[in-house]
Amino acid sequence: MVASFTYNINPGRILFGPGTLNIVADEIERLGMKRALILSTPFQRAHSQKLADRLGPLAVGVFSEAAMHTPVAVTLKAIEAFEAAGADCLVALGGGSTIGLGKAIAWRNDAPQIVVATTYAGSEVTPILGQTENGIKTTVRDRKILPEVVIYDPELTVELPVGMSVTSGLNAMAHAVEGVYARDRNPVSSLMAVEGVRALRDSLRVIVKHPDNLAARSKALYGSWLCGSVLGTVGMSLHHKLCHTLGGSFNLPHAETHAIVLPHSAAYNAQAAAGDLQPLAELFGGSIGDGLFDFAGSLGAPFALKDIGLRESQLDRVADLAVKNPYWNPRPIERRAVRSLLQRAWAGMRPQ
Ligand code: NAD
Repeated sequence: MVASFTYNINPGRILFGPGTLNIVADEIERLGMKRALILSTPFQRAHSQKLADRLGPLAVGVFSEAAMHTPVAVTLKAIEAFEAAGADCLVALGGGSTIGLGKAIAWRNDAPQIVVATTYAGSEVTPILGQTENGIKTTVRDRKILPEVVIYDPELTVELPVGMSVTSGLNAMAHAVEGVYARDRNPVSSLMAVEGVRALRDSLRVIVKHPDNLAARSKALYGSWLCGSVLGTVGMSLHHKLCHTLGGSFNLPHAETHAIVLPHSAAYNAQAAAGDLQPLAELFGGSIGDGLFDFAGSLGAPFALKDIGLRESQLDRVADLAVKNPYWNPRPIERRAVRSLLQRAWAGMRPQ
């Protein structure tokens, strides 16, 4: 029997395939817009400028100061640039940081957003915005935040460095792993989760050896779209709470943190959510925690929080924050068990 469910489907237009970057102009016009502000990080400035050049009069400016965790000060500066240029829509070219900036602007002025996603983080298909001000990260969910159009052009991901491809891919998988046991999951979100993880598992193995393999890049982007869609549809649990705590309060890098914590958080919930996790566990040899740990290791992912900037003396504080106002989780949140999880993730030990 199919369990009862409620499924709120996010609207959106997805354009997928090599060369889709070329249709940004058509999409601006399709939205009835005429003057786009192009967004990127400083690192991708040359790409966003090239896109602006190609768009000609449809692009009225480039704002290339997007930064991790969407600082409000940057958003306010970007809104000034948007207004000064007389822009009427946004084109975000990049990963979660650039997409976050576009969402933060749109949340405030309701500008239509076209996103050209170049990492696997999945933010482009969620109505969620995390932003930081005075060192505090807050999250908002609003339909104005969800981008109207998402373009996935695998050719743009070929240059994504292997290390980032791996951690970003594991970040995407984390959405799916938490998605299968989400309290508000539904049969479609679970299908997307399993298919997304399978696609990323298969493609990342190829990408680490052949980063310019377009078929693998395409499959990874497909998997990240599915995993991101899961994040946009259902609630997240302990894993995301831990990563939000480590990123928001301890400034650890986003994708690496997800990559390190995932095997441990999955193992924490392995028994309580055994049935829901079963199809994913099978993809990794039967045990979700060990399987993900070995998989991440085989890709050369970082595996210890101590290697990405967390001090052992901070672990108690992380545990305190992570168990405070916890997200719903299939296994009860026990501070001792969470502290022990953190200790192992800090040291780079196998999950328990
Ligand atoms: P990122 O956007 O910070 O990108 C990291 C670096 O890689 C940047 O310098 C970027 O310019 C560069 N880069 C991106 N794509 C590239 C490519 N194809 N080739 C070469 N360089 C490239 O990294 P991210 O992991 O995608 O995003 C992390 C941020 O996204 C965090 O702030 C996180 O909170 C947020 N996020 C939000 C959601 C959501 O739903 N709200 C979901 C996932 C992540």
